[in-house]
Amino acid sequence: MKRLLIVEDEERIRETLADFFATQEFLVSTAASLAAARAVLARGDVAAIVLDLLLPDGDGTELVRELRGRGDATPILIASARGEERQRILGLRLGADDYLVKPFSLQELLARIEAVLRRTTTPAARLVIGDVIVDFEAFELRRGSTRTPLVAKEAELLRYLVQHPGRAFRREELLDAIWGRDAAPTTRTIDTHVFQLRQKLETDPAHPRHLRTVHGVGYRFDP
Ligand code: CA
Repeated sequence: MKRLLIVEDEERIRETLADFFATQEFLVSTAASLAAARAVLARGDVAAIVLDLLLPDGDGTELVRELRGRGDATPILIASARGEERQRILGLRLGADDYLVKPFSLQELLARIEAVLRRTTTPAARLVIGDVIVDFEAFELRRGSTRTPLVAKEAELLRYLVQHPGRAFRREELLDAIWGRDAAPTTRTIDTHVFQLRQKLETDPAHPRHLRTVHGVGYRFDP
């Protein structure tokens, strides 16, 4: 059974959703705040999240940003009373998979959760890094209205680093992971790709904030 995390501060709604999904072959965890949601997510077994936006300790979009920023593709369905188009677009742009405006029917929420789970068995299609959205399906990077293409190996390298935030990799490790052990490219290939990625991703490529050089080792991604 898949674990569903329901993040909702209104007790009545939270309990209604929890009771309903428990009858639909889900394991249910609930959280009444962002802090409580983070604690549940730290267990690592959440398959999908139903996320309210207005929470006592912040806005639900912060959680979307955090998860996508570290390459976590756990499906997120925002369920909010805030139905303005601007708000819905923001939620989806940040990487939420769907958006449902309260009040909604339980059956519709269930259908959408099931659809999101069907669609998202693949790794995150999009990541938010700083002010940039990386779209791995379109192989491009977007900053505001500016679109920059990514070549396939740049995208793979970026995804790999992002999936291991804060960990320093040797160039050889990255070559093995992205090009395969028998690949002809040399470690210089990694430097070239990191250089290109920095030009595209970093606000100031000469002083990278995300793709960091670790002297004597290699490279590290900082969210
Ligand atoms: Ca709320």
